[in-house]
Amino acid sequence: MSLYALTSKTLPTGLRFPESLTPDPPCIASEGLLQSCRLMKNAPPVPLYPLHFQEIYRDKVWGGDGLKTALGKKCGARTGESWEIADVGKDSSVVANGPLKGRKLSELLKTRAREIMGDDVYIRHQRFPLIIKFLFAKDRLSLQVHPTDDFARAFEPEGTGKMEAWYVIGATPESRIIRGVLPGTSEAEFRESLTNGKIEDCINKLRVKEGEVIFIPPGTVHSAYGDLLLLEVQQSSDFTYRFTDWGRTEPNGKPRELQVERAIKAMDLQSIGVSKLKPTRLAGFAYKRDLLIKCEKFTMEKIDLPAGKRGKEPADPTRCKAFTVLAGRGRFLYGAVGKGRPKAEPFAKGQTFLLPAALGEYSIHADSGCEIIVIYP
Ligand SMILES: [Zn+2]
Repeated sequence: MSLYALTSKTLPTGLRFPESLTPDPPCIASEGLLQSCRLMKNAPPVPLYPLHFQEIYRDKVWGGDGLKTALGKKCGARTGESWEIADVGKDSSVVANGPLKGRKLSELLKTRAREIMGDDVYIRHQRFPLIIKFLFAKDRLSLQVHPTDDFARAFEPEGTGKMEAWYVIGATPESRIIRGVLPGTSEAEFRESLTNGKIEDCINKLRVKEGEVIFIPPGTVHSAYGDLLLLEVQQSSDFTYRFTDWGRTEPNGKPRELQVERAIKAMDLQSIGVSKLKPTRLAGFAYKRDLLIKCEKFTMEKIDLPAGKRGKEPADPTRCKAFTVLAGRGRFLYGAVGKGRPKAEPFAKGQTFLLPAALGEYSIHADSGCEIIVIYP
């Protein structure tokens, strides 16, 4: 049956097919197609499985080739960010594996939010509440700040604030994270240093190394640079206010937009606190599992699983979990009913998976030594 056999009935009157494309005789199969559509409508939904998404890449003036060389990402030489899971504005991750391949997260959440995110997350947020990204800062990110939820509600048409944390995947002796301003700096001094080029004198610079976690609550002045490879977890929000972009211009010759007044309003000069967080070992696991950070908006843990080992992940229908693989390769084993064989979804370094809340109990099998960051709202 040709394509035209299906469309012939819907051609506007007066339109004719070219001779060579004359439709087949009246089509009996079209009724069959309608029938199968009816069946599909009533078909049970595709069972959920560990979801992997297509990366959303962002080239940046401060980007480089680190995501490509260190994580095997298929991106450019100036890529700054690889969004692993996101559903914010027009950026919604697209499933890259299994029967739901090609579907947008936003589309799946319209009908299956509770199954995917879990009741607890759904009730609190009604949308996917986090953005998970890899970030490579060859040069400096703009000096920036993010708003609190209250600030965003008061001064933006819609949206939430942005609390974020960085896990350091790779650093060099030159790598630095700017976090907060030096104690005693007043708003007037900060403001003046922005205009007279002396901002370096009042910001807190941290030397960082692999494995460290830096918490950036809203209101904290921050930046990062020096061939620094980070895993960034943040609230699903698009609000970044820039104090300065260090005098740079975009490839089009124009400087990036600054939001100095709004940034000053959103900044919290007291936000220094504990700069680096100490991991704590979690009890009750037959393998090494550390709590990296537990804040109001998300939790991050780190799993170290030796080759050949299997780690059981307790079922938690209240929330979904994301797994970002920093080293090694292995498989998620899930869906074992009774004594049936579980299904397997392979994973490898550089990939992130979303494990739906409705998946039940599953385990992680390491084919080689694995380092995995677990993230959940
Ligand atoms: Zn930021």
